[in-house]
Amino acid sequence: MNSPSALPEHLFRLMIEQNSVGIVLTDREGLILHVNPRQLKASGYTLDEVVGKNPRIFSAGETPAKLYEEMWTTILAGNIWHGDIINQRKNGETYRELVRISPIRDDVGEITHFFAIKEENLEGNVTNLLGGSLATVDPLTGLPNRAMLLNRVHATIQDAQAAGQQGSGFAMLVVDLDRFRTINDAYGHLAGDELLRRVAARLKEAVRQTDTVARTDGNEFCLLLLGDPSQTLLEDLARRLLSAIATPVEVRDQHLSVTASIGIARFPLDTRDAETLLQRAFSAMGAVKSSGGDGLRFYVPQAEQQALEFTDLTEGLRDVVQRNELILHYQPRVDLKTGNIVGLEALVRWQHPRYGMIAPGRFIPVAEETGLIVNLSQWVIRAALEQQRAWRKESDTLLPVGVNLSLRHFRSGDLPNFIEQALAETGLPANCLELEISESTMMRDPTQAFVMVDRIRALGVRLALDDFGTGLSSLSYLSRLTVDAVKIDQTFVRDLTSNPTNASIVAAIIAMAHKLGKRTVAVGVETEGQALQLRRHDCDEMQGYYFSRPLPPDEVAALFLTNRNLALKGEEEAETSRTLLLVDDEPNILNSLKRLLRRDGYRVLTAGSGAEALELLAANSVQVIVSDHRMPEMSGVDLLSRARDLYPHTRRIILSGYSDIGTLTEAINRGAVWKFISKPWEDEALKLEIKAAFEGRA
Ligand code: C2E
Ligand code: MG
Repeated sequence: MNSPSALPEHLFRLMIEQNSVGIVLTDREGLILHVNPRQLKASGYTLDEVVGKNPRIFSAGETPAKLYEEMWTTILAGNIWHGDIINQRKNGETYRELVRISPIRDDVGEITHFFAIKEENLEGNVTNLLGGSLATVDPLTGLPNRAMLLNRVHATIQDAQAAGQQGSGFAMLVVDLDRFRTINDAYGHLAGDELLRRVAARLKEAVRQTDTVARTDGNEFCLLLLGDPSQTLLEDLARRLLSAIATPVEVRDQHLSVTASIGIARFPLDTRDAETLLQRAFSAMGAVKSSGGDGLRFYVPQAEQQALEFTDLTEGLRDVVQRNELILHYQPRVDLKTGNIVGLEALVRWQHPRYGMIAPGRFIPVAEETGLIVNLSQWVIRAALEQQRAWRKESDTLLPVGVNLSLRHFRSGDLPNFIEQALAETGLPANCLELEISESTMMRDPTQAFVMVDRIRALGVRLALDDFGTGLSSLSYLSRLTVDAVKIDQTFVRDLTSNPTNASIVAAIIAMAHKLGKRTVAVGVETEGQALQLRRHDCDEMQGYYFSRPLPPDEVAALFLTNRNLALKGEEEAETSRTLLLVDDEPNILNSLKRLLRRDGYRVLTAGSGAEALELLAANSVQVIVSDHRMPEMSGVDLLSRARDLYPHTRRIILSGYSDIGTLTEAINRGAVWKFISKPWEDEALKLEIKAAFEGRA
């Protein structure tokens, strides 16, 4: 291959002169030596008019002065600078341009010139050829922002790739101030801003000029450190940063102090991609935060992280009971007919000294896998009974408490004896305990499950089949299982009001359970619509955020001791006979329809989307639906098809333009849509159609 110097000089010239991006060459002081035709055309000046001038006199005053400072510091330190600036044409018109300036060095490495390539930023804001974005400097601290940081990382990666592997690695540090909001709240935003400026200055002081310190978010800074720093060096630096940040700052006669969480990721060790690198440094920072902040961590790959966490949790679980780190929260179960609290479910949480509060989904599987679960499960049963005894001392109320049983505990032959003993120790009646066993646990070994269920039942303890619907048990199996209750899994409840198939499954489970003499409890009820729909299907009880989240013992006691009740609207109220539902994503149309139709004496409900409409349909008895067709996410035809399956007696009218006639004809033929009314509508004709729909006339 020819070396670049073998390229004839006139070709160099043509490359510059005919280039499709603007090119400007300046001396070390920034005075213009040459501008190519492309750039002259963009600016409207002639070459004579610009040579010997400083490019800055051509730019509009709108480019922040800090940006220029930033630019000069960067290029004088020998780095490439990218950014957006606001330039001015000769005719006074301003325009945005994306600029990339590289220093040019002589044989001994001295910077002699600067070479800028420029491109008009026609989109005004998006990243393009040069990877720039509108604002590149954070106005508060004068530091580069996230966009500029990413540009630098991209450029550094390009340079590294061009230079080969040796010595071209770099590191990214995310520095996030801990609990910064409390400073803002306690001392005001001005003090918060001042503190951020001071932290910015301390970070800049701690690194070399060639490194980049950026402010990437409210209280988050990122450092790009060049020169392939070693792990020890990074660790030292991060510690220095932590102590620099933690040194109190005097702001308006107050001594403010903050700590920080630092996450570190390295190129090319952790990834070769700019965004991923930032993300990984960020996730390492998150790990510091979740263990209480004020520290540093290097990125470790997820599999490794999981392995570490698994070992960590296993270690911690070994004596979790002795260390008193487990607690129980309680979630009320509510009767759907009376609205009264009729029971509680005990849900375990682990207050981990480093990870904070851990949900059971994270540690129960680890405990199950390592066999540590039996000990834990025994603790839960004892603690739930102890709590009941304490409540009973305070009042006469004794609500049955559900406790989830683990697979291993259920299969250990010792379980019935243990329960008998625990009940005897607390002196409580057996029926105050309801053991919840998941359908999949039962199905692991059905024969053994029958035996165990009968032994537990013989003690007088209640039993519920948990997560029902997910474990593939057969009807004959269920009929032989002597459980008291069936808990319908959240996955069916979640889209009960929008998914006709799941709605049918829930209805079938309830009917079947009732035929077999079992109570039904729906888990994960989050909306009024779901609760009313369940009541309509005759479900006995519900549990879910709509009534209450799982709560610490004293908070849940406050609910049941004051007889807190779920006030669902009465059947009569929900069943008014002249309810009209209007659906359109345009508020103006909804308003004008509402105004038009309210005078006719209907109870008018309105929804801005299909999902909202389905929720209203579940919570109210609606006779007529008038829906727009073209709506984002769920079209009118889709909504009305679901409404037909869920509420076959509704009369469904669609309002739409003629261009949708194909889809509509098909929907009408399938019976999803009863009438099509074209948009724009005639007021009187629409009123007559709706009246006819309520009267059941075609
Ligand atoms: P589960 O027995 O199905 O418990 C219900 C879960 O649903 C609880 O999660 C509860 O917080 C959550 N939940 C309740 N209402 C709503 C709602 O409206 N929306 C949503 N999105 N979620 C709701 P949690 O406490 O994280 O427990 C998860 C699972 O961990 C439990 O599922 C149970 O299988 C297991 N578990 C909890 N405590 C214990 C225990 O003491 N021992 C054993 N072996 N397993 C436990
Ligand atoms: Mg449960």
